[in-house]
Amino acid sequence: MKKPKIIFLRADDICRPDLKFKKVFDFLAENEIPANYAAIPGKTTSALSDFVRKRSAPAKLVNFIQHGWKHVNHCAEPGGARYEFGPARVKKQQKHDISRGFDRMRAIFRELFAPAFAPPFHAYDETTVLLCAEMKFGVFAAGKKLFPLPDSKMIYLPFTVALSEYGSDLRPRPLPLERMIAATELRLRESSVAGVRFHHDAFFGSHLDDFMRYCRFMKKLETAGIVKFALISDVIARNSY
Ligand SMILES: [Zn+2]
Repeated sequence: MKKPKIIFLRADDICRPDLKFKKVFDFLAENEIPANYAAIPGKTTSALSDFVRKRSAPAKLVNFIQHGWKHVNHCAEPGGARYEFGPARVKKQQKHDISRGFDRMRAIFRELFAPAFAPPFHAYDETTVLLCAEMKFGVFAAGKKLFPLPDSKMIYLPFTVALSEYGSDLRPRPLPLERMIAATELRLRESSVAGVRFHHDAFFGSHLDDFMRYCRFMKKLETAGIVKFALISDVIARNSY
């Protein structure tokens, strides 16, 4: 039998346990779908981890990973691509933000924190990658790989499937169900791994229904042995995916 292809589900921009977060979190947990939550350390409080801990057995289904520091745009050029970590931030500034974010993630989420770094806006430069490797992150989770990794144990995990697209207001708009499935299947035809990112905040009303149908569809593929949902902490533990 063929090895199942791996799906990493990643919810971005997590800060607090608001109603939209709770709905997505409870749905994924009830359906036993492992999920990787990218939390913004400089905006997250322990209310979030308190909520998660009150839910039953979160550890085998839930990872929190570090999504930058405060998700702030530091690009000063008008109309330039947004980034929190990029050319206008010297090494010392990047290191300061990544390291205080790391400490905060570990303090808030403890064993639920998987040391993976997901740069906000999917933007970063070579300094960001070098620093994360130096600081012993196990995974760097972004879009397409832009730079070679230094000689370290850090693994690059590409998140190239987006369940939303961006409007001219730069806000995420969820794709319809058929396009969510098509984008994931396209990636899985080309690769053994699909990193799938979404914004829980954009899922409400019919968008939330579509997301749930998408997850149920993928869950059926998992039951059939075609795909497998995974946590980033599994990749770090095995040092491969
Ligand atoms: Zn983000």
